[in-house]
Amino acid sequence: MKNNILIIGGGPAGLEASAQLQRMGYNVILIERSAQLGGHLAKWDRLFPDRVPADEVLGGLIHATEGVKCFTDTDIRAINRLEKSYNVRLTNGITVLSDALLVASGFDLFNAVRKEEYGYGIYNQVMTNADLEAYFKTGRDKRIENPKKIGFVHCVGSRDEKSGCRSCSKVCCATAVKQAIEMKQAFPQADVFCFYMDLRLFGRHYEDLYLEAQKEYGVRFIRGRVAEVSENYDGTLLVKAEDTVASKPLKITLDLLVLMSGMRPSASVKELGEHLGMMVEEDGYFAVRSGIAAGQRSPQPGIFLAGAATGPKTLPETLADARAAAMEIDRYLTEIFPDARNYKQLVKERW
Ligand code: SF4
Repeated sequence: MKNNILIIGGGPAGLEASAQLQRMGYNVILIERSAQLGGHLAKWDRLFPDRVPADEVLGGLIHATEGVKCFTDTDIRAINRLEKSYNVRLTNGITVLSDALLVASGFDLFNAVRKEEYGYGIYNQVMTNADLEAYFKTGRDKRIENPKKIGFVHCVGSRDEKSGCRSCSKVCCATAVKQAIEMKQAFPQADVFCFYMDLRLFGRHYEDLYLEAQKEYGVRFIRGRVAEVSENYDGTLLVKAEDTVASKPLKITLDLLVLMSGMRPSASVKELGEHLGMMVEEDGYFAVRSGIAAGQRSPQPGIFLAGAATGPKTLPETLADARAAAMEIDRYLTEIFPDARNYKQLVKERW
């Protein structure tokens, strides 16, 4: 009989690992705590660098999981370690005897309300990267009415001690450049500005996107952190920043400001960590077993990690990490259950 593998999290990492493990012949059970598979990808419109529709990518990932038992609106209620396996009670009443677990709990976006100085939730014309993607997807947002001047603020809640996050979120520079181009396409007359600390565009073709934004669309990049946002009497925004290249303060009036909220550890990490006896590091992400060489193995036997559960990752990195985790799980199960290849009955299912 096949080994059971429980995947926790139905975002890109969980979906990709599920498909890979299913193809290897394992019995895969995927649980997702929200009502929908896909994580943040399900809410995104297009992806950098080539602006492929997110639905297309997600559709492919979901299609590849055919045969995987998927439970949405489902979480872990309790878990017990047996000799070689885990007895996992789910909130939907099902109990799974699982020989390996993969935690693919993803990430949350920084709550921009916490950066009060940027005015999100205070001024009507301030929105986040996620809000803008929702607008691109639906074509609806009351905040967007033919804006003439649009600003993007990088590193919101990332690389920021005061927000409790020192690390770079990896994706938001490229997202800002992509969204700046899309706004220029939607509103060709608008002036678009990106306020950045330094640009981190390290992936293949990401630099091309940056050059395209400047040369073809005239997006202006201003090196400097925004210090304060306030509202003018006419409802426009007054943005104060420091241009660190020209070494002088800057004031600019904008019709719309987009905050690039960074990645934060998923809110589920703490509870999951307690259930699974897993160590959470100071930055709020799960610890892996030993640095570079065992990036997908947790310190707990039979529990593996993939995607943003261990830190910010781009989508291609997440998918590669999920495939690596699937390989690690296969190696582990082959070592722990050498006769599992004969599909000996090791598990009891209750559905
Ligand atoms: S990717 Fe860019 S915007 Fe995002 S945290 Fe890193 S430097 Fe800041």
